[in-house]
Amino acid sequence: AKAQIAAVEQGRALNCFIVETPEKALAMAADSDKRLAAGEARPLEGIPLGIKDLYCTKGVQTTAASHILEGFVPTYESTVSANLWRDGAVMLGKLNLDEFAMGSSNETSYFGSVTSPWRRPGSNVKIVPGGSSGGSAAAVAARLCYGATATDTGGSIRQPAAFTGTVGIKPTYGRCSRWGIVAFASSLDQAGPITRDVRDAAIMLRSMAGYDPKDSTSVNRPVPDYEAAVGTSIRGKVIGIPKEYRLDGMPAEIAKLWDDGVAWLKAAGARIVEISLPHTRYALPAYYIVAPAEASSNLARYDGVRYGLRVPGKDIVELYENTRAAGFGKEVRRRIMIGTYVLSAGYYDAYYVRAQKIRTLIKRDFETAFAAGVDAILTPATPSAAFGIGEKGSADPVEMYLNDVFTVTVNMAGLPGIAVPAGLSSEGLPLALQLIGRAFEEETLFAVASAIE
Ligand code: GLN
Repeated sequence: AKAQIAAVEQGRALNCFIVETPEKALAMAADSDKRLAAGEARPLEGIPLGIKDLYCTKGVQTTAASHILEGFVPTYESTVSANLWRDGAVMLGKLNLDEFAMGSSNETSYFGSVTSPWRRPGSNVKIVPGGSSGGSAAAVAARLCYGATATDTGGSIRQPAAFTGTVGIKPTYGRCSRWGIVAFASSLDQAGPITRDVRDAAIMLRSMAGYDPKDSTSVNRPVPDYEAAVGTSIRGKVIGIPKEYRLDGMPAEIAKLWDDGVAWLKAAGARIVEISLPHTRYALPAYYIVAPAEASSNLARYDGVRYGLRVPGKDIVELYENTRAAGFGKEVRRRIMIGTYVLSAGYYDAYYVRAQKIRTLIKRDFETAFAAGVDAILTPATPSAAFGIGEKGSADPVEMYLNDVFTVTVNMAGLPGIAVPAGLSSEGLPLALQLIGRAFEEETLFAVASAIE
């Protein structure tokens, strides 16, 4: 723990942590030392982790990287982080993210951008770590911690993992409790780990996952020993290659990475089949209706009365307006406006209801493929490697949204997805493949991912 605290201090230039908690880390580590000495080690005894600052942590400021929550100190602990402490992990601090987890580059944080430890060889341009879990991914990639919690509403675990050469898994919707995690789009949000390798992801997810009566959407099924699946044979497994993911204008190096993945899995004994997921092209526009709609409702609670920031006004309405105008950043305000619009009486059927229908069709596409015997689906994780800070999306937010084209389908369908490092781009930056599995069959993803790693 002491070495990791020193690493966190050294890594401050990357801006991964919003809050460091060295005293807490040392106290937890001292307890771990005692248990280790007594031969009573728990599964994660003494392992230093970072926590995305979207998870409420008892007695430790939780901001969702938003000015509106600055100074908010929860009186409760999220179920998922509590599960990690129950198993002996040690908390190093709270990790930076895009404001309210809205973004794909960690540039929307009120506490400033996070810098990836990666550089284009011979260049000093600062590279984004992806988002929204950019602090988590950069901290793991820079070895500031062994693993980090993250959340994924439309790719925010898998895309930053892909951009930083780390492993990130979004488990099946309902696998991890959402209780105590600041809500973005409740029907899409899932917790998961970002780690250095597939085995660590399996170990960490096992601790994080499990039924929680405090989250009505958490599912009461036993949590398997995911680690046991790592490195097992994938001989005879059927891997689907969805033809609709071969987008027009896909960069040659992404197409090649995908072909390499096919070749590696074939060599490991898997059977490769082409599949069709015909509604793929509607996923991104439908996601950017459903997610803002839910966000506009979830973020209504930040009124200047109950949490964090308060900017007074002459009456209560002005207090709400002043607080929300000062407290929310540009991207969050954009999402609230889009969400409020698509839920408004005149446009509800035209946008929100249609997006929900598309969501059902996307889900059915996957069900059809899995019913035909496919065990897992292989795609690229992102349409490109990471870009420089400030290089994308400043003029056109849609340019940033396009990063999520391969990841959002998985959230819309509630399925598990993992990003696993698979090579380097022509610029020398990490590239990753994504595997998508059947609901509650994360073990298959761990087995197949370890054949790629
Ligand atoms: N980039 C996506 C968005 O901005 C995904 C965010 C997430 O998964 N939290 O909505």
